[in-house]
Amino acid sequence: MSYLTRLNKQLRNEFKGRVWARESDGCLLLEGTLDNWDDIVRSGNMALHTRKKDTRRFIHDLQKETSTDTRLGGIVNNIQYTGGDREPMVLPSLQDDALEGQRPDVLVIGGGISGCTIARELARYDIDILLVEKEHDLAMQASSRNDGMVHPGVDLRKGSWKYHYNLKGNALYGKLCEELGVDFDRSGQYVCFSNPLLKPFLYLTLLYWKWLGVPARVIGKKELRRLEPGLKKDLVLALVFPSTGVVCPYNLTIACGENAVQNGARIRVETAVLGMDSNGGRITAVRTNRGTIYPKVVVNAAGVFSDEIAGMAGDRFFSIHPRRGSNTILDKKFTQALARTSSAKIGTASKKAHTKGGGVVRTVHWNILVGPDALETPERENFSAERGSIEATMKKFTATCARLNMAQIITYFTGVRSPTFEEDFVVCKGRRCANLIHAAGIQSPGLTAAPAIAIDVAKWAVELLEAAGETVSPNARFNPVRKRIPHIAAMSDEERAAMIKRNPDYGIILCRCEEVSKGEIIDSLRRPVPCDTVDGVKRRVRPGMGRCQGGFCGPLVLQIIAEEKKIPFEMVTKNGGQGNILYGPTKAGTL
Ligand SMILES: Cc1cc2nc3c(=O)[nH]c(=O)nc-3n(C[C@H](O)[C@H](O)[C@H](O)COP(=O)(O)OP(=O)(O)OC[C@H]3O[C@@H](n4cnc5c(N)ncnc54)[C@H](O)[C@@H]3O)c2cc1C
Repeated sequence: MSYLTRLNKQLRNEFKGRVWARESDGCLLLEGTLDNWDDIVRSGNMALHTRKKDTRRFIHDLQKETSTDTRLGGIVNNIQYTGGDREPMVLPSLQDDALEGQRPDVLVIGGGISGCTIARELARYDIDILLVEKEHDLAMQASSRNDGMVHPGVDLRKGSWKYHYNLKGNALYGKLCEELGVDFDRSGQYVCFSNPLLKPFLYLTLLYWKWLGVPARVIGKKELRRLEPGLKKDLVLALVFPSTGVVCPYNLTIACGENAVQNGARIRVETAVLGMDSNGGRITAVRTNRGTIYPKVVVNAAGVFSDEIAGMAGDRFFSIHPRRGSNTILDKKFTQALARTSSAKIGTASKKAHTKGGGVVRTVHWNILVGPDALETPERENFSAERGSIEATMKKFTATCARLNMAQIITYFTGVRSPTFEEDFVVCKGRRCANLIHAAGIQSPGLTAAPAIAIDVAKWAVELLEAAGETVSPNARFNPVRKRIPHIAAMSDEERAAMIKRNPDYGIILCRCEEVSKGEIIDSLRRPVPCDTVDGVKRRVRPGMGRCQGGFCGPLVLQIIAEEKKIPFEMVTKNGGQGNILYGPTKAGTL
């Protein structure tokens, strides 16, 4: 019996004939209707397992760049969800023709960490680069809604794309963050155990980590207590992965974008790709809300929408099933309870949990993050945090750190991952589209992997341009270094005095929780990637990130934005779009 017959039999039994599978152009297509989203995901996973060998071959053959081989494709889950409305993509309200007729060499779709690292790598060449992002700013989706961990690569299958790019990306982080002036702390991940009898077993696992190429060591109770006095007392052993680090994901994404712009790339926000025209297996035009663009090469870095972008190009050979993850942020006061590690968790996490990092994570800004969880969802852009998620993760991780409690919470956030059914990245040239490159399905550890993915994608883009007869030379003016915005709170007394002498605005502290000066806020509004929203300033220099969540500094930030941009107060938004904060003077028009 062929695997397809077997699969169809299983699907028929499980879903009462409402779902079936067929092969088309090397992909395994699932069709039908279901009213339960979890069933739709389950049917995709059933298809994957039944076709496992083929799927492995699919991933490996892509790696060998046999992308012209039309026999191989992934799981394309086209089952219609009838259990509720699936919200369409949130689109910018802006409509103009600012980009009409533009002919960039490379068009990058998506301003997350994937798109921005790719744009920066492309800027090493003397080519015309345009990055479009549908949101009002960079790093608005998964790239600002994650744990910021630079993973060591411990729970990844050797041979997978995730493994390949995680290891390479992790190694690039030190230099990258130094060049871009972004804080990065290689502070290590601790996986803790309460059973002392596991010690010999943990030493044995060191051979495995060595084989994986991941540095690791085992520490006992005394050292664990010395390094992390805040952990629960019954934790007596830990596996330490010292190559783990923490970074601020939105700072890094914006820094990559800024450095790309410094080096000649163009970034246009509020620009959504709405459709494409193709001819003879090539994209000929890309339609946006700001006009039609005619790129020579297109890079798909559209995160949770990357399968839809692939579909527009006639190259949909994978599908994304969105997976939510919520995190809780604790007050910095609590950080002393877990001072040094970037992450600590109990060593019992199930392999099926689909969340590789997390636990109790100390961020690069010295907050504690607790989470994330992993829940399948039909909603690609629902970023609300559910009470149940927050309570469950807080409860779960009290096992690591007894002092966790709800009173320390200052806020929470939710991100949506973009896994394929193969649970691997899709990083390759298009299969049926000759001028397309995918950086798709970039779920965790996508932040870690992005710098390495970007190097390959930029190389392939240049190859495609050259194959089309273009001459591509290096960008002789490329400068990898980006100057950071000075942070007064991190300076010594002497440095502060000198800074305030140069610019007295640095002596006016507006955000008292995070000690952010007026000078920093003004500087954040004058960067190569312009920002004009309260949250945009918050992401760049942190006013409003502390305990009061902007209660005190928010109005002052709004006032500075209005003054800098020369716009009325009412036009300043929280995050772009319709997010106005003020609606006019109170008692206006009354006597
Ligand atoms: C809760 C959570 C925790 C995580 N923790 C970690 C971690 O600790 N370490 C780690 O390495 N990874 C982590 N990840 C994974 C990591 O966040 C992602 O892999 C990474 O951010 C993906 O980046 P991206 O640029 O591919 O996607 P995104 O950041 O989602 O960017 C894609 C962009 O494309 C834009 N876009 C989409 N469609 C269009 C269109 N039609 N036109 C124009 N623009 C469009 C979107 O608006 C979006 O901004 C985590 C993820 C989550 C959700």
